[in-house]
Amino acid sequence: MNDKDNRSVLDLFRLDGRRVVVTGGGRGIGRAMAQAMGEAGADVALVSRTREQLDAAVGSVPNSVAVPADVMTVDPVSLLDDCQDALGGAVDVVVHAAGFQHRQPIVDFPPEQWDRILSVHLTAPFRISQELGRRQLADGRPGSHVFIGSLNNFQSVVPDIPAYAAAKSGVGALVRAISKEWSGRGIRANGVAPGWVRTELTESLFSDREKADGILSRIPMGRLAEPAEMASVALFLASDASSYITGQMIVVDGGWTTS
Ligand code: NAD
Repeated sequence: MNDKDNRSVLDLFRLDGRRVVVTGGGRGIGRAMAQAMGEAGADVALVSRTREQLDAAVGSVPNSVAVPADVMTVDPVSLLDDCQDALGGAVDVVVHAAGFQHRQPIVDFPPEQWDRILSVHLTAPFRISQELGRRQLADGRPGSHVFIGSLNNFQSVVPDIPAYAAAKSGVGALVRAISKEWSGRGIRANGVAPGWVRTELTESLFSDREKADGILSRIPMGRLAEPAEMASVALFLASDASSYITGQMIVVDGGWTTS
């Protein structure tokens, strides 16, 4: 963006002609973010492990294609090659929304679950952004890398999720590190840090009435977020509307962290 840019403010949110990769795009927050990007005019590659989820998502997300892959095991070079082929050109934006949870007290926390959580939430986003950044820097193309953090970026929220808390804290540091190295060359990195969002990830927690009431009573807005309320922020970060924002985690939590 420069001072000769005469687009209207709403046009800055458009992603026409941009190519976007969304991991975890099959359902939940990732799917809602993909939906927002597609509605804003982007061509979107949905990356997820589950074929049925992807088929359903492609049916509703505008301008989308499915690229089935497990981000923990896939080679980022072949993943981005597949996304480029499916989208018909170089990728401009990545959204790292794949994730899962494992809850267990620290004394019993299995090392293999520690490794899996770190892998999906931190290592895979690093490796995919690393490869995409290499390509964007080599081509001199601008880019926006959007990560998903958590309240755990700022505080220890609930017990029994040590790996998740560590991984999400790492995501905040990675966003700042990427921003430091690449933002001077047109590649921005930011994150959305959601509070409590109504998805399958949080379903088991909120099916426990006592736990659910305890959490809801601490949210000033008194309700969970909907995935679409994360998606609008991701669209802002992906688009030129946020052209001078980099290295930030944007908290979207109904007031939790400030109360
Ligand atoms: P979800 O379980 O509804 O969706 C997660 C998606 O990631 C699914 O499509 C799943 O198939 C995919 N996925 C999981 N492992 C994968 C892998 N190895 N390879 C490819 N795809 C994989 O969860 P959600 O609530 O939508 O969570 C999305 C992101 O938001 C996660 O990073 C999560 O930690 C984060 N988050 C969620 C909440 C919340 O309250 N729901 C709060 C803070 C952060």
